[in-house]
Amino acid sequence: MTANLLEFDLEGLAVFCDGLGEKRFRATQLFRWIHQRGASDFNQMSDLAKSLRQKLQSHAHISALPVISQHISSDGTIKWLFDVGDGNAIESVFIPEDDRGTLCVSSQAGCAVGCRFCSTGHQGFSRNLTTGEILAQLWFAEHFLRQHLKTDERVISNVVMMGMGEPLQNYSALVPALRTMLDDHGYGLSRRRVTVSTSGVVPMMERLSADCPVALAVSLHAPNDALRDNLVPLNRKYPLDELMQTCIAYLAHAPRDFITFEYCMLDGVNDQPEHAEQLIDLVQKHARQGLRCKFNLIPFNPFPASGLLRSPHARVQAFAKKLQDAGLVTTIRKTRGDDIDAACGQLAGDVKDRTQVQTRIAQQRTIALVPVSSLDYPRDQ
Ligand code: SAH
Ligand code: SF4
Repeated sequence: MTANLLEFDLEGLAVFCDGLGEKRFRATQLFRWIHQRGASDFNQMSDLAKSLRQKLQSHAHISALPVISQHISSDGTIKWLFDVGDGNAIESVFIPEDDRGTLCVSSQAGCAVGCRFCSTGHQGFSRNLTTGEILAQLWFAEHFLRQHLKTDERVISNVVMMGMGEPLQNYSALVPALRTMLDDHGYGLSRRRVTVSTSGVVPMMERLSADCPVALAVSLHAPNDALRDNLVPLNRKYPLDELMQTCIAYLAHAPRDFITFEYCMLDGVNDQPEHAEQLIDLVQKHARQGLRCKFNLIPFNPFPASGLLRSPHARVQAFAKKLQDAGLVTTIRKTRGDDIDAACGQLAGDVKDRTQVQTRIAQQRTIALVPVSSLDYPRDQ
């Protein structure tokens, strides 16, 4: 078995190269070829000595994930479904905006947290992704889009770990992936443009602030423990006060940073005026201890098994206004890509039927034969 070089951050690649008797600067060159230029063939790497290329041929490979399908929304959002083996699939979503291109990345096949309003949660947990599987999503999307848009410029300016899975329950694979995103020899993203979203895995939030302090989004969804216990089962282990204290500690060394609290608006469940009032109290109480935050209200994307409904827009607006009037910065998330089931919480890539996966992979191979430029962003209607 040879090593897939997408599994390594620069440090890891340096160790691997050292094992081949190669100096560190060779690892840097190799890393740049892989992540900055999207190379997967060692023969392309013209500035590496032939002897090194030969060693790499026999000890290493650079393998992306097979693409099962690609859907393009009428708003330009693109969703890819990737095969991760054993009948499991994961999804990544590219969201183009005027001033940025955001990739929403998955960290697990399924999720063990089991939030009531999340279709990934309903599907259960299959397994953690490896560092290479997390990075393969960015590697593929970035270089696919560059080729497609015929540009050498960076297309993806922001990464959000908001796809399938709880990133902080896959910590050891996550951190080298984040480091590669931030590395100047990798994707060179600033730490404020990489966001980890968590349902509140307190001990790992503490570790992340020390190991790789990227932007943090916390999925709050409820202003009190009784309701949050019900919606986000992890709250029973790490209740709100502990979560707030951990957010405060996360911000302690970064005076310009803030936490984004995500709040999914569920009709009649967490969207009443008293919930907004409790939320204001909760945040104001902790503001005195150094909590800085913004709110992002997410219109719930319904799916039948949840038994829940989306709050009417007027109620979301009234909720936002209450928070804003109390001085809390609050935005309402625009739903993107819902015509292709790419919106938040609609990602459910667990393809139970293996034959179906095989058929879709076979179809994908046909797609792969079409030159990328001729795909011309077909829009799903
Ligand atoms: N596990 C992490 C990251 C993935 S979920 C987390 O929970 O934060 C990314 C975001 O989508 C979270 O804020 C989550 O609460 C939200 N979400 C999940 N299901 C949703 C749905 N059906 N409608 C709208 N948002 C949803
Ligand atoms: Fe897991 Fe996040 Fe979905 Fe909750 S919302 S089940 S933590 S992916």
